[in-house]
Amino acid sequence: MSVSVVGDRISASIAARAKHTSGSFDCFIGSNTIMGLQALQPRIALANLRTAALPPKVADSFYSSPAWIAMRDRVRREACGRCQVPGCGRIERGMIVDHIVELKDGGAPLDRSNARLMCRAHHNQKTIAERAKRTARRPGGP
Ligand SMILES: [Zn+2]
Repeated sequence: MSVSVVGDRISASIAARAKHTSGSFDCFIGSNTIMGLQALQPRIALANLRTAALPPKVADSFYSSPAWIAMRDRVRREACGRCQVPGCGRIERGMIVDHIVELKDGGAPLDRSNARLMCRAHHNQKTIAERAKRTARRPGGP
């Protein structure tokens, strides 16, 4: 049975049909035959609005290797903890040692000249820009 609902009420004829069909509705109120939506809830299919879940993020074991940790610490030390993007110089918690040419794009993982310290804002900007470039290079483009 399809039910059209206006506001929180259904028409008397629909309510009567629902009562007749199920034979178990006992929530009709007064002489207007008003039934609350809650009584209909088990009969209304719920839309599944979930989207596909991303796979869990797994840390690349490279970033826990002694060689990377040594280079990361060296980059931080040499930058005196400051963002190395020209004109920035910010110091904050969570600074990121960044591969200038990302590993995904063939950047050398342990080449000191391919690493610099960045604040989170600049690192996020760079990541978004690099991702956009990668997407544009894919067949079919962005
Ligand atoms: Zn910065």
